[in-house]
Amino acid sequence: MFNLVTRTWNPVTGCVHFCIYCWARRLAITRLYKLFPEYYDPEFKPRLIEKKLRERFRPGELVFITDVGDLFCSEVPDEWILKVLEVARRNERTLFLLLTKNPGRFIQLLEKYGVEIYSRNMIPGVTVESDYDTYYIRMKVSRAEPPYSRLETFLNFIKKYSNEINGFIPKCWISIEPVIKFRSWKRLVRQILRFIPYVNKVIVYVGYDNYGLLKKHGIEEPTLEEVQELINYLKDSPRVEVHVKTLRRAWNEKLGR
Ligand code: SF4
Repeated sequence: MFNLVTRTWNPVTGCVHFCIYCWARRLAITRLYKLFPEYYDPEFKPRLIEKKLRERFRPGELVFITDVGDLFCSEVPDEWILKVLEVARRNERTLFLLLTKNPGRFIQLLEKYGVEIYSRNMIPGVTVESDYDTYYIRMKVSRAEPPYSRLETFLNFIKKYSNEINGFIPKCWISIEPVIKFRSWKRLVRQILRFIPYVNKVIVYVGYDNYGLLKKHGIEEPTLEEVQELINYLKDSPRVEVHVKTLRRAWNEKLGR
């Protein structure tokens, strides 16, 4: 979890990105499905939980929407997303994190329904595990858009809408977690710095896999030195706020790879 987040809210659960390292899917289709069968699909397909739309939020909270799934994945109907965003808009003194691996959906929705569906209390975010798309595709890490291309799509969204959505998108969020073998940490840093002119703050989280799932599937991680270089460089950059999560040597580094 992210230390800035004070609450999670799952009015929609489920996801079709099939990330190889997904803990949410495993948890949802086993323990959570047994405990709350009305909230989770046994195959982790998206599900709307109408009664969660009636929850109340306190001013000042930072609410992560749908941490057990991806609200913006392709199988979630537009109508569900619009309902969720409407609740977020109504709670204008609460902040809502919209974190996805499908940032192209932000653009599609705004083009289709207009910028009115968005509001300044929303923090759009993207998860990118790497900058190495060909490795990511070769290792079949997930069915989502490959990470470097995903980051480019997110940048296009921010560039296009930062001046249109109520004047400004105050903050955006980039989660580099779990880190997967980089082609070049400098390239990833350069891409992140391109967000700076468009927002007040870029919040970046960085961390290694906590569950040993990348190792289990033979997916390599960047070296600790590379990750530390990336963190140090970002920390020295204006308007970038870096949060470091799990840091350790890469499993493949220990093997001398
Ligand atoms: S995007 Fe998140 S919820 Fe969806 S499969 Fe990947 S890790 Fe799991």
